[in-house]
Amino acid sequence: MDLQHIKGIGKKTLEILYQNQIYSIEDLLQFYPYRYLVLQPEALVDSEDKITITIPATVIEIPKVSYIRKNFNSLRFRAEAYGKIINVTIFNRAFLKPHLPIGKEITLIGKYNSKTNMFTANDLKLFKINHIEIIPIYHLIKGIHSKTLQSLITRALEELDTFPKLLPESVEKKHAFLSKKETLKELHFPSTLEKIELARKRIIYEELFLFMVKIEYLKQLNDQEQGIEKKIDVNKTKNFLQQLPFSLTKDQEKAIHEGLQDLLTSKRMNRLLLGDVGSGKTIVATTIIYANFLAGYQSAFLAPTEILAMQHFDSIRTLLKNTNMQIEILIGSMTKKEKTNIAKRLQNGEIDLLIGTHAILNENLFFQNLGFIVTDEQHRFGVNQREILKNKGILPDMMFLSATPIPRTYALTIYGDMDTSLIKEKPLGRKDIITKVVKEANLKEVLLKTLEEIKAGHQVYVVAPMILEQEMSDLKTVSLLKEKFDLAYHGKIPIGMLHGKMKKNEKDTVMNDFKTGKTKILISTTVIEVGVDVSNATIMIIFNSERFGLATLHQLRGRVGRGNLQSYCYLICNEEKERLKVLEESNDGFYISEKDFTFRGEGDLFGVKQSGDMTFQMANLKRDYDILLEMKKEAKDFVDKKLYMKNDYYKKIIEKIDFTN
Ligand code: ADP
Ligand code: MG
Repeated sequence: MDLQHIKGIGKKTLEILYQNQIYSIEDLLQFYPYRYLVLQPEALVDSEDKITITIPATVIEIPKVSYIRKNFNSLRFRAEAYGKIINVTIFNRAFLKPHLPIGKEITLIGKYNSKTNMFTANDLKLFKINHIEIIPIYHLIKGIHSKTLQSLITRALEELDTFPKLLPESVEKKHAFLSKKETLKELHFPSTLEKIELARKRIIYEELFLFMVKIEYLKQLNDQEQGIEKKIDVNKTKNFLQQLPFSLTKDQEKAIHEGLQDLLTSKRMNRLLLGDVGSGKTIVATTIIYANFLAGYQSAFLAPTEILAMQHFDSIRTLLKNTNMQIEILIGSMTKKEKTNIAKRLQNGEIDLLIGTHAILNENLFFQNLGFIVTDEQHRFGVNQREILKNKGILPDMMFLSATPIPRTYALTIYGDMDTSLIKEKPLGRKDIITKVVKEANLKEVLLKTLEEIKAGHQVYVVAPMILEQEMSDLKTVSLLKEKFDLAYHGKIPIGMLHGKMKKNEKDTVMNDFKTGKTKILISTTVIEVGVDVSNATIMIIFNSERFGLATLHQLRGRVGRGNLQSYCYLICNEEKERLKVLEESNDGFYISEKDFTFRGEGDLFGVKQSGDMTFQMANLKRDYDILLEMKKEAKDFVDKKLYMKNDYYKKIIEKIDFTN
């Protein structure tokens, strides 16, 4: 229902809400508190160490304000609590003074020291609590006071009486959930902690059921979709594999076989190729691209960044050099003329393989007969991509490459609509990367080893600390690190720098200098974390490694050890972290991701930015995995029996997926 139905909502408020993606009353009610503050009157006892206490009190003296230094002030007054007079201090609340007349009833939260009779408050509420109070805390919406927000939510709750049925009746009954209205009421105006839990549980079930319905429906669509039965020249494909400089691993062979099978049959390929960094996914995709070409179709290869697109362009072109395929790259920074030329040749069918970033889907490009798309490192969710392709009137075979070593069980659920090929085995002769956690104070050891490797003709990657908000720019962290290395090596070792603010051609030059060995050390930020393939690099040094998740560190480490040279990874940290030891112990991405999962939950697994479809307000895939499985079952039933036809809410969602298909 439209927000305008809320009585007395102002134009300005409306605008701010719209800006915050709150368009309807339902959206507003879904703007849940992100936490609850629980206040409960406690006894006035010495708060040893770090325990804070909450006490009701009455002001008995006009507060005095002292300005200690810039941005630092204190407010002091005497108050009465439980019949006792205490001295209260609170910092940086000078602005509260006018609200604290004598006789004002307040609540103090902080620490009490009985010897000095001093209460140091870290928070002060302008009301007195008598019994337990649960206060919902919302994320701030700039321009709307939290009081206003609450009253809007109150009115929204009054306005809305019917709610869409997000859960099957049976699930609701089985878990004895609160009704939807009660659920929302408890979340926004909680009565007890138990009730909040019950309300949250309902929302978690709803989120996961909705998510799984989408996946199950997509799966059903995929299973029904007619692809093209392509004619594959088996002999030529075999010959191609035979002329490679290495022999394939069993897993690679199997993945290629599965992919080729998809091309052959009328079922459209929708396949996830899951394999650790360096496991050799590119050759699998390239072989299928070649087979697709032999069958008479064009291919596209989509990379997540321009640097990666260039990288793939280089390596795929090399792999395919003995074929007569026409291969081109298209990236945003090319001139208009170059782009037009490529567009023309693409439409004429003169280009057999186009490599670029995801953006090429959005460009005004038309393939003559696109038969196969490879997407590198797209975490989830195919819907947008499908939409774009459908609008272009094509739905080719699709393969997704992912090195995000999600634990297999989760992969099956999250990528539940796709077929999966798994590469577990590493190429023959590949050595484990020797990894060591090193305190920054002991950096010398690393610098010596680095020098040794450079003298042996090898190269080194250095990852600069990850930038936290309010810290310096990435340019600065990278330059500081370069100074450090220059100082250590008396400026005698050529060092390149890469950072986010650089222009594309600057980046190209730096990358190229490193590739050709002109520079020996490459210092960069994680912006360029993935993809560069320099098999001569044998050392990876990662600063502030404690700031990264294990899965990310493993990915970064995968930049070295790509050839047969023994490689090393140094995880530099300020404070030693137990979890980093996992990387010393193991080179197995799946094992590491299971560990990461137990340490940190799913947040990190899917990268910092989760794609829209994967973000839940309350559900957490790790914690709620059992619920996810339960909802997968329910969702399958729901989709199989077409129960969505009888549910307006889901009918709309399904229609939208249908429309985009
Ligand atoms: P990723 O799975 O990370 O995309 P790549 O496909 O880039 O891995 O392969 C990493 C490196 O291993 C490349 O240099 C590639 O040529 C090489 N490689 C791939 N398969 C094999 C193999 N079976 N034997 C030896 N080297 C291989
Ligand atoms: Mg790759």
